[in-house]
Amino acid sequence: MIDTSATVERNDPMSSDSGRRYGLLRLRIDRQIAVLPGQFAMIKAHGIFEPLLRRAMAYYRSNQDDGGVHVEFIYQVLGRGTQSLAGLRIGDEVDFLGSLGNTFDIRAARGRTALLVAGGVGSAALFMLAGELLKAGVTTRLLIGGASRGDLCGLDDFIELLSAGNVTSATIDGSHGEKGFVTEPLEARLKAGTDRESIIYACGPDPMLHRVSQIADRYKTPAQLSLEAPMGCGYGVCVGCAVAVKHDSPPGFVYQKVCTEGPVFWHEELHW
Ligand SMILES: Cc1cc2nc3c(=O)[nH]c(=O)nc-3n(C[C@H](O)[C@H](O)[C@H](O)COP(=O)(O)OP(=O)(O)OC[C@H]3O[C@@H](n4cnc5c(N)ncnc54)[C@H](O)[C@@H]3O)c2cc1C
Repeated sequence: MIDTSATVERNDPMSSDSGRRYGLLRLRIDRQIAVLPGQFAMIKAHGIFEPLLRRAMAYYRSNQDDGGVHVEFIYQVLGRGTQSLAGLRIGDEVDFLGSLGNTFDIRAARGRTALLVAGGVGSAALFMLAGELLKAGVTTRLLIGGASRGDLCGLDDFIELLSAGNVTSATIDGSHGEKGFVTEPLEARLKAGTDRESIIYACGPDPMLHRVSQIADRYKTPAQLSLEAPMGCGYGVCVGCAVAVKHDSPPGFVYQKVCTEGPVFWHEELHW
């Protein structure tokens, strides 16, 4: 983990018919750091003290060069932190803390079809995973959902990577793909037994992840979920991101921190 300054190389706004706003932010870091699928960084515009705390953003893409690393994020403009990210211009400095968190278990996908389930901006956490699964020779499909076409973040990049035939989309307004929640085509696929053995990797809003977890239980399919709990520090000190995780002895649950023990958890670990 390094705490450093990064330079903005690109910041492209995107908006959706649903009224939501997003941005694709590309940063350059003048040092080599490891960037793994599912990991995240805490970032904020340099010199801004309102908000004081950095915001967690999942790595979308990255590439190394001789002197350092370029990392990309897709952010949804929600509150003060992401509004200030939206105002960044090329050449601006960003306070960067990363890489943080664990990574997906790619070896668990051996011999299975990987079903990536993304809700809205949660797709960002799954793009590098899709690339690594392909490199490992795993058949990989994406099911991506959102309110409207413009909320299917990264859709064109996923289609380029996986091909259109391996991407299923669902929108609430029916503007792209099936009308409804993305968990519906997921359940239909598992119910039909389309893939002999599968594994689910999901990231999105909590209600979507909860439903994915129920479906994974029902169809006895392993599932890893990447949680986007609000967090303060990103490295285990503030305990603001604690989630309840099942505990056998004594039976019940304990709390774990999404920033250090996550953000990726096996679905059966979580106490919803
Ligand atoms: C590991 C991890 C990875 C993440 N990756 C991404 C990412 O790639 N892209 C991205 O856009 N966000 C991501 N997030 C979520 C992001 O960090 C939060 O949404 C952040 O709080 C936004 O900061 P803000 O200052 O804009 O909004 P805040 O001031 O923190 O909140 C503003 C308003 O938005 C609401 N809000 C906050 N978070 C969410 C949410 N997740 N969903 C719905 N409403 C919310 C709040 O309740 C509040 O009403 C990630 C979070 C984690 C923990």
